[in-house]
Amino acid sequence: MTEYPRVVVNLEKIRDNVKFLTKKCYESQIDVVGVTKVFSGSLEMAKVLVEGGVKYLGDSRVKNLKKYKNLDVPKVMIRLPMRSQIKEVIKHVDISLNSEISTIALLNEEAGKQGKVHKIILMIELGDLREGVLPEDVECYMDQLNSMKNIKLEGIGVNLTCYGGIIPSFENLEKLEIISNLIEGKYNLKLNIISGGNSSSLDLLWNNNMPPKINNLRLGESLIFGRETAYGKDLEGCFHDSVKLEVEIIELKEKKSYPVGEIGVNAFGEKPVFIDRGKRKRAILAIGKQDVDHSNLETMDEKLIILGSSSDHLVVDVTDSKIKYKVGDIVGFKLNYGSLLQLTTSPYVKKTW
Ligand SMILES: *Cc1c(COP(=O)(O)O)cnc(C)c1O
Repeated sequence: MTEYPRVVVNLEKIRDNVKFLTKKCYESQIDVVGVTKVFSGSLEMAKVLVEGGVKYLGDSRVKNLKKYKNLDVPKVMIRLPMRSQIKEVIKHVDISLNSEISTIALLNEEAGKQGKVHKIILMIELGDLREGVLPEDVECYMDQLNSMKNIKLEGIGVNLTCYGGIIPSFENLEKLEIISNLIEGKYNLKLNIISGGNSSSLDLLWNNNMPPKINNLRLGESLIFGRETAYGKDLEGCFHDSVKLEVEIIELKEKKSYPVGEIGVNAFGEKPVFIDRGKRKRAILAIGKQDVDHSNLETMDEKLIILGSSSDHLVVDVTDSKIKYKVGDIVGFKLNYGSLLQLTTSPYVKKTW
């Protein structure tokens, strides 16, 4: 028996996307870190990214990177290390993104103990207000880094369009170039990596507007959905339908669309709002908020209306569809980044490659 709900992944389409996008990046002398966080550390997925041509694998969780130890590319930790995991980071991670000197000092100390030199990318804050050292503090950081024998500054990087929604531009990425020139000149060293962001930086590449010194991007969403994320545009030459969700109908009845009785709060303490459409045919599907936020789902059958969900139930209005749905039928959904991230994290959702 097939298990439901399940996320169906077309690895061939993702492999094609990875080949296409890494080639496009390499033509501009840009290496790609393939970011796997949206697949909860799946080894199958990581292999596809490496086969497709990424030069590094990146993830925010050490637990995931650990699984890739037999894949022959450097592992990049793309979230700042926690102080409570320094040992694990030195053991399983080749390059980590950093912005706190006290954490880097601990990495230095632990790397010494393990007889290693740990590489870091120093993150620079350029407007998005998530991680990063303020540009005016970079020199102070450099003075301190210089005395750390077991840390190698592999490069610098920026993250945009994640927290503040700031769109990468020639101007803000050029600041990264300027800072790299300053570091290389003043400290007489060569930075191997100038990492210009994530899938939201692809639009600059497409418009030949990427500052020339940017030689690295960390890509996740674009590899899977074939989409840049500054404006949400589908990239020509990529597949956009490499993943879908399938869920089973467990009840199908004609019911009123407006609840009967006094309306209080739902199971999540919210006062629900209803549209009275009269009597409608309603399907209950076996998936719920524990697995996914329904506002990030879209039905493949455009005539269906997602009404709402509770912990384990999703209610869908099927009245207008040409398809005569019945109990036991499977309903398909398109996914976005948010729903894919949640679904792959739920142990109750089967993943099919
Ligand atoms: C998630 C993440 C990425 C990848 O972002 P996408 O939008 O999926 O390409 C890159 N860098 C960092 C630091 C991240 O957290």
